[in-house]
Amino acid sequence: MIKSDHRVATIPFHRPSLGEDEVEAVADVFRSGTLTMGQRTFEFERRFANYVGARHGVAVSSGTAALHLSLDAAGVGPGDEVIVPTTTFTATAQAVMHVGARPILCDVDPATLNLDPDDVRKRITSATRAIIPVHLGGNSCEMREILEIARQWNLRIIEDAAHALPSRYFGKLIGSISEFTCFSFYATKTLTTGEGGMITTDNDEAAARMRSMRLHGIERSDGKQPGSDFSWKYSIREAGFKYNFTDIQAALGIVQLAKCDSMRDARSRIAHRYATAFGAIDALETPSVIENCESSWHLYILRLHLDRLNADRDAFIEGMSRKGVACSVHFIPLHLHDIYQRAYGYRPGDFPRAETEFRRCVSLPIYPDLSGEEVEYIIESVKQTVAELSVPRSIAARA
Ligand SMILES: *Cc1c(COP(=O)(O)O)cnc(C)c1O
Repeated sequence: MIKSDHRVATIPFHRPSLGEDEVEAVADVFRSGTLTMGQRTFEFERRFANYVGARHGVAVSSGTAALHLSLDAAGVGPGDEVIVPTTTFTATAQAVMHVGARPILCDVDPATLNLDPDDVRKRITSATRAIIPVHLGGNSCEMREILEIARQWNLRIIEDAAHALPSRYFGKLIGSISEFTCFSFYATKTLTTGEGGMITTDNDEAAARMRSMRLHGIERSDGKQPGSDFSWKYSIREAGFKYNFTDIQAALGIVQLAKCDSMRDARSRIAHRYATAFGAIDALETPSVIENCESSWHLYILRLHLDRLNADRDAFIEGMSRKGVACSVHFIPLHLHDIYQRAYGYRPGDFPRAETEFRRCVSLPIYPDLSGEEVEYIIESVKQTVAELSVPRSIAARA
């Protein structure tokens, strides 16, 4: 049994999987002398695009920059509306604000926590230009339905795949399905370059614009890629951004990409152990993956049946923390944040399903470097925390 007043272990919510191969690859970049964007970046882009099955990969400084450049390349701007689920990281909607458009929040499907296609349909107006589906935790959105909506209303699709490397939908990897897919290589994501992001697309013209816009809007008359060398001869036709990738990041990315499948298998094994351990516990609901989808298992989002516990989600996290296990929550719905209330008038209660699920969700540690003993310890900590919070109120009051 775990003593709740005695910290027997400390398991962080995330640890990156970095080894000697990454160290060597980065050291090679230092020896080469090219620190910023160069041939290694272009090599990483080719390998990444090839891996997911897209024509182009455009590497940028963050997942947020990837979303911003995609919206720009899709021609979304002031006066336009873009539909975004309320259950996501703020970056998804902020990228919409960066191009001067308005994020239109929508509610989620409680089964998957992903945007609900029926709710999307209700929010389409004459100003709607695009939808940003977010594959929460790596569980794919219902892309067939979303693509059908886009076709019917002539909308662009920009997938937020910050959690979805590698995730499959009907056998195809996320990144090869719709016009733009945006990945993040932030420190906690399934492939990390510290910071970084990537857009995959089959659209030649959009790829060329994004390659230019990520580096000040530079265009070269010799047809070379902006950033491919330090030539002084270039022209500037747009107010571009400073969103380029670096070869230091690319060196990390190339090594991480080669391990991408084995890291996914490791997370998947942990997810199966969790599912087996928690499936029979009344107060817990394990995550469900939609049919014909393979999750990347970036997150393991457990949900609590609060009516079977006499405490809330925060008390559960506190109980885990007392045992030395760090948990997290994905995410505080956007409409509960001050900026979305002030700028667009959203209020608590606007998206009841997202709010209900938010109040009862908790993300457990899930990453390849969790040892077997650590997974066992997390499982035992969950079981004990549930037991502690399951004591009937009358008994708890007397104790
Ligand atoms: C991490 C994340 C982003 C942003 O990625 P950055 O690389 O940190 O800019 C966007 N959307 C979601 C859902 C994320 O989790």
